[in-house]
Amino acid sequence: MPKCMSCQKNIQWKSVYISTWFPNKTIQCNTCDSIYKITSHNYISLAILIPMMVSGWYINRFLPLPWSIFIGLPSIILLGLVITLIVPFFVKVERI
Ligand SMILES: [Zn+2]
Repeated sequence: MPKCMSCQKNIQWKSVYISTWFPNKTIQCNTCDSIYKITSHNYISLAILIPMMVSGWYINRFLPLPWSIFIGLPSIILLGLVITLIVPFFVKVERI
């Protein structure tokens, strides 16, 4: 988790998570009210898209067509969602 630069406390997962979905939304430290924004949005997009594309390619290759849609598509979307849950632990923030 990113730490607050003023009070050294971890910034809440929930506010970082919301900010990964809405880049314009700032992150506020719960303890000292410092305001941050995520600096690594391009890396976040890549960290979500690349595993989704690779698993899509993989599923498409090994499952016949109707199955690759009914099983593959939901599992790729689920994979993307799981990655977005983990991403807040690795983002970098800067104070604004
Ligand atoms: Zn703080």
